[in-house]
Amino acid sequence: MNIVVIALFAITMIAIAKYKPVYKVTLGDQEIGYVTNRFEFEKKINNDLLENDEETVLSSEIEVKPQYELKLVAHSTQTNEEEILDTMEASVKTIYKMYAITLDGEITEYVETLEEAEILVETLKGQYIEEVTSKIGITEVYTENKEEQVTEYMLAKVSTGDLVREVVQEEEEKQSHTLNGVYFANKPVTGRISSRFGSKESIRTHTHKGIDIAAPNGTPIYAAADGVIKSAGMNYGGYGNLVIIDHGNGIETYYGHCSKIYVKAGQSVTAGTKIAAVGSTGRSTGNHLHFEIRQNGTQINPQKYVYN
Ligand SMILES: [Zn+2]
Repeated sequence: MNIVVIALFAITMIAIAKYKPVYKVTLGDQEIGYVTNRFEFEKKINNDLLENDEETVLSSEIEVKPQYELKLVAHSTQTNEEEILDTMEASVKTIYKMYAITLDGEITEYVETLEEAEILVETLKGQYIEEVTSKIGITEVYTENKEEQVTEYMLAKVSTGDLVREVVQEEEEKQSHTLNGVYFANKPVTGRISSRFGSKESIRTHTHKGIDIAAPNGTPIYAAADGVIKSAGMNYGGYGNLVIIDHGNGIETYYGHCSKIYVKAGQSVTAGTKIAAVGSTGRSTGNHLHFEIRQNGTQINPQKYVYN
């Protein structure tokens, strides 16, 4: 019994003298070396390879996890922690956070931090009309290639500002053609204005309640805005063939003296729908469109919103 214990002790002593314990590291099915201290090594991975900045990094991990196996190897065997770290660097996957500035839901630029995004948006909001700036937003987005996508703050501000200005111009243009929420996207007829709103002419006993646009007989007349045909047919009060479109919100448009009518009462139309053709029916001295805009039954100058 004693002899067995002594023999085991002797063998152990020889083993310790000749061998040392190390961790063999395997990545996938590839042995990549030895490390002395697994705990220290994993700390090194965490500190040297993985990015842990909570502000800018969503997640950082090693895609292929290293496997460790405790082994006794000859004392002469070298460990190679640095080399293993280099090898493992290739399998690190870091997802970065960045922030997209959006205009009407479309991304204009990416900036690095939420703070930058907020300053940029606040700056723009102070400069432009609310109808447009309410369309500017910020979204957090994730990427592996932040450097390629992020724009330096000043450049992002300039280019987003340019886009916002374009939208502002479009919006102002649209507002100049909008009455009580009705957007007159279309001129009914392209032509020369032969009589303006409010003018007095020998043919009338009262002032002109619309505008006249001279155009050849048969020239198409288009709906000025979206709406529903209120009536379409001969009017014996002087308008001749007349189309009336109800645009909602108390707004109507009148198209008089038509030679032909292409729509029927109750039909929905959009801005640009062909509704009639220019003529000289009713009380008229030549081919033209008599165009009116009425708000709650009262004619207003169409040139405030169309042909302006
Ligand atoms: Zn007229």
